[in-house]
Amino acid sequence: MGRFRRESHVFRTRDVLREDYQPESLEERGEKLDEYATALQPIIDGNQPDNIFLYGPTGVGKTAATHQLLTELRSDAQAYDDIDVQLVELNCTGLTSSYQVASNLVNEFRNPDHQLTSVEVDRDPIPETGYPQKRLMRELRKDLESVGGTIAIVLDEIDHIGSDDDILYELPRARKTYDLDAKLGIIGISNDYSFRDQLGARVIDTLCEEEITFPPYDATQLTAILEKRAEQAFHDDVETTAAVRLAAAYAARDRGSARQALDILRKAGDLAKREASENTGGAVAVDEAHVEEANQLVEQQQVLEGIRSLTQHAKLTLLTICAIEAREESPERTRVIHDEYQQVALANGYDPLKRRRIHDHLSNLDLNGILSQVDVSNGRGNKNYYELDISLESVFQVFEETASELEVQPIREHAVRKGLV
Ligand code: ADP
Ligand code: MG
Repeated sequence: MGRFRRESHVFRTRDVLREDYQPESLEERGEKLDEYATALQPIIDGNQPDNIFLYGPTGVGKTAATHQLLTELRSDAQAYDDIDVQLVELNCTGLTSSYQVASNLVNEFRNPDHQLTSVEVDRDPIPETGYPQKRLMRELRKDLESVGGTIAIVLDEIDHIGSDDDILYELPRARKTYDLDAKLGIIGISNDYSFRDQLGARVIDTLCEEEITFPPYDATQLTAILEKRAEQAFHDDVETTAAVRLAAAYAARDRGSARQALDILRKAGDLAKREASENTGGAVAVDEAHVEEANQLVEQQQVLEGIRSLTQHAKLTLLTICAIEAREESPERTRVIHDEYQQVALANGYDPLKRRRIHDHLSNLDLNGILSQVDVSNGRGNKNYYELDISLESVFQVFEETASELEVQPIREHAVRKGLV
């Protein structure tokens, strides 16, 4: 027997516990789905769609709900001859400007990459840089024209675009500007609550005609979600009741994310599976000890994932903290961090944000376990000091892998000289 052997003591279909598995229907989201469906109703009625802005923390079903409802919408629309519903989906992770969103959108029409996209325009993809803005908008217009009908454009993780948000103003207006026959509805999805407040007033007026918030799940809801998935994922004779409950409790206590709960349960299943293949025979269970260990693994991984998916200014804020940390001057207060952040932003070619926004980024990073707030009150009750809550080395590593455009090297060298990494 070789090293790899197929065995199926624990999982029936492990993939069901992966985040990219689309469940047939969402649990515990009845009201939110109704609200979302109402916002989409104008499409079925043949009217001009409202633009929708959907927000909530990560892992609360925003993408899954969008996939479910739009797929239903498109299939229900087939019953009516006078409407033709087309879907285009773009995930904006890593897209930091309106230009990039527009060029990726054109290429999504021409070379679909995402699950929900239902069109394919027969024109060549365009290069992602160096294409004049005017020409880019002309290409986009051509694509919208040739698709026609009612086009729902989903811009997922739109908060990555940051403050360069012109496209969110122009796209909803494209019908008027270009005198198109096609009706356009934009669905913007954001993981970052504060992104909305940062949008210009004119963008808010256009994009946020309908606003829907998805709150975090509580332990009971997460238990229901996991139970349903566990039924399909594990063999019938594998005991998982206690594991499901504990995984749900951990995830609820932390962020209320279904993604996190699923990750914990899947890893716990892997641990149980390893154990089962070591001592063959006997009843198999995914138990609380497996979940405890899995929870720790997921926590570590999550922090690193969290850094990867930060928006550009959040990364710049974190880089600033690293610089302060490398000089052994942390914890530091918000005002000083903001002063230094301005230089870091400029040095990396970004217009700095105001202090209020950096304050938001700092508390977000704190919430995500990347920074921690330190109380250095000396009796004055001042709590706005921050320091890194994970190792400098791990931040450098993630940055070097995923944010190579940022100036990380000089800070690393400084930290090396100080013997910190
Ligand atoms: P978001 O887009 O809000 O970050 P997702 O929609 O990607 O979250 O959900 C993360 C994972 O959790 C996916 O695997 C999704 O299928 C699952 N999930 C989220 N909410 C529910 C729910 N209410 N019922 C069943 N599965 C859910
Ligand atoms: Mg999502």
